[in-house]
Amino acid sequence: MGMPDARAARRQLLAGKIAGQDADAALITYLINVEYLTGLASSNAALLVTADGGQPAVLATDSRYALAAERDCPDVERLTTRDVVASLAARAASQGLRRILFEAHAMSVEQHATLAGDRPEIDLAPLGRAVEELRVVKDEEEIAAIATACGFTCQAFDEVLPSIRPGITEKQLAMVLERRMLELGADRAGFATIVASGPNGAIPHHLPAGRPVERGDLVTMDFGACYRGYHADMTRTVAVGAAARWQREIYRLVAAAQQAGVAAAEPGARVAQVDAAARDLIAAGGHGAHFGHGLGHGVGLEIHEAPLIHQRGTGTLGDRVPITVEPGIYLLGKGGVRVEDTLVVRSGAGARELLTTTTKELLVL
Ligand code: ZN
Ligand code: ZN
Repeated sequence: MGMPDARAARRQLLAGKIAGQDADAALITYLINVEYLTGLASSNAALLVTADGGQPAVLATDSRYALAAERDCPDVERLTTRDVVASLAARAASQGLRRILFEAHAMSVEQHATLAGDRPEIDLAPLGRAVEELRVVKDEEEIAAIATACGFTCQAFDEVLPSIRPGITEKQLAMVLERRMLELGADRAGFATIVASGPNGAIPHHLPAGRPVERGDLVTMDFGACYRGYHADMTRTVAVGAAARWQREIYRLVAAAQQAGVAAAEPGARVAQVDAAARDLIAAGGHGAHFGHGLGHGVGLEIHEAPLIHQRGTGTLGDRVPITVEPGIYLLGKGGVRVEDTLVVRSGAGARELLTTTTKELLVL
């Protein structure tokens, strides 16, 4: 199934969900969801999908994206307008659509008030995260795009290793990584690259700045390429010059926890159990209080998406679900370690497919 057919099939699934909520249509305003359902990546777009799916969906975007919409979304009706929500609401009203579902997580209170005021004939009700739920399970084309992005990410890391020496700053390292991913074929860096050296490693999402790498540092790099809209996400921590005993100890613990988390990720596994598989090891090693974030997250058109894998997470993992597993230990004033892979949970042999294949041995550079 090609991408246009896949998108038509996604809209058909959504049409079924709309009918299941006894509504006439859904107004999709979360931009990533519009992209998922149409192929159009736009900073100003909305999509009207009707319950029966018999009529084509209506995609509204402004003139900056009109040509891209014409090229990439031939099988939907297209409206060129700046006020995408008002235009689609007018269209819905003119078609006699009365009960319209909207994405409460992607519509401001102001937009909702305007819409309700302008169109009293429309009965607005929340759709929930129906499109996000569809996005959890990927098709093979989506997985291939994530795998390609992961390939660029791993290769960039391998090639950047010789540059990780005392004197290079965090920001310089981030720039080298991002530049190399683009040269290899990435469309862009999927998110702002994290490079955290020495004591900065205690800050999980440290913004790289002017600190030069020093001998004796642990350096954590969290980065990933974006390819055809799909993301890679990988973290590796290396030692510079020499690794102290405490550094080796927390590295060994994080690597073992990461391996346990990966091994627990299989179709049918409860996300809270996957989190626990890694977290329990870190707690047993005396560092439970130094691992404050969740174990991982889904990856796709967004760098962080469903399913979220954390202690209080509900639900189970399905087949063809790309996720990350990324435990860490963060010691205030000293430094930290995080190891993260992107993998695809799959039914059948192996239960999972690792997409970031870079070594997880502690590299002392
Ligand atoms: Zn990451
Ligand atoms: Zn991540």
